[in-house]
Amino acid sequence: MRLIFLGPPGAGKGTQSSRICDEYNLKVLSTGDILRKNRDTGTILGEKARDYMQRGELVPDDLIIDMIKLELKNFSDEDGFILDGFPRTVAQAEALDKLLIEMNSTLDSVLVLDVPNESIIQRISGRRMCRTCGRSFHNVNNPPPPGPECERGICDLFQRIDDTEATVKNRLAVYQKQTHPLVAYYEKTGLAYHVDGFGSMDDVYDRIKSALNKINS
Ligand code: AMP
Repeated sequence: MRLIFLGPPGAGKGTQSSRICDEYNLKVLSTGDILRKNRDTGTILGEKARDYMQRGELVPDDLIIDMIKLELKNFSDEDGFILDGFPRTVAQAEALDKLLIEMNSTLDSVLVLDVPNESIIQRISGRRMCRTCGRSFHNVNNPPPPGPECERGICDLFQRIDDTEATVKNRLAVYQKQTHPLVAYYEKTGLAYHVDGFGSMDDVYDRIKSALNKINS
């Protein structure tokens, strides 16, 4: 299966894609994670991306498209994948269409996670990440393990630098202006499949699974 998870920041794309990829044996390609790794290790790409990320703006398309080209080269014909956080502009979606043609590949579906704006700020401001295992938690909806141990060692929680309320508001505005047009883009191709992303993590997970079962049948 080759999927895109599309939705506003805080819609649960990262959390749900990591659960779905385990169950369906898919690879996840999260542009946010790749950019953070580059930023934290000080690569040239990371340095170019740093200020955009901190302001909650999109990193320029040419940098993202070059990065995706390199990443997709690591995928074989048999690999199923989820693209999380890419594409985020129409130019990126058009570049992906071209890349897929070159790879002789196609998308199976674009899952659009619909979440009301009010719940997004609440979700993101409570979000905490673990440096050790990379998982994302929420201090109310999905609390981290009670002891200091996480699944890969000692739990090391932090709040993302772009998860502050002011930056989140900017990220939502950027989403509306630059990314939301992709919903119509993929509706036109018949690939868009809307999933209600409001509710508990488990409820949303079950909805995604039943969507995937329908898409596969
Ligand atoms: P995320 O973890 O997906 O919320 O991404 C964090 C930040 O990385 C975003 O706010 C952007 O600054 C940047 N970013 C991630 N993916 C993209 C993309 N496809 N295009 C442009 N910027 C991106």
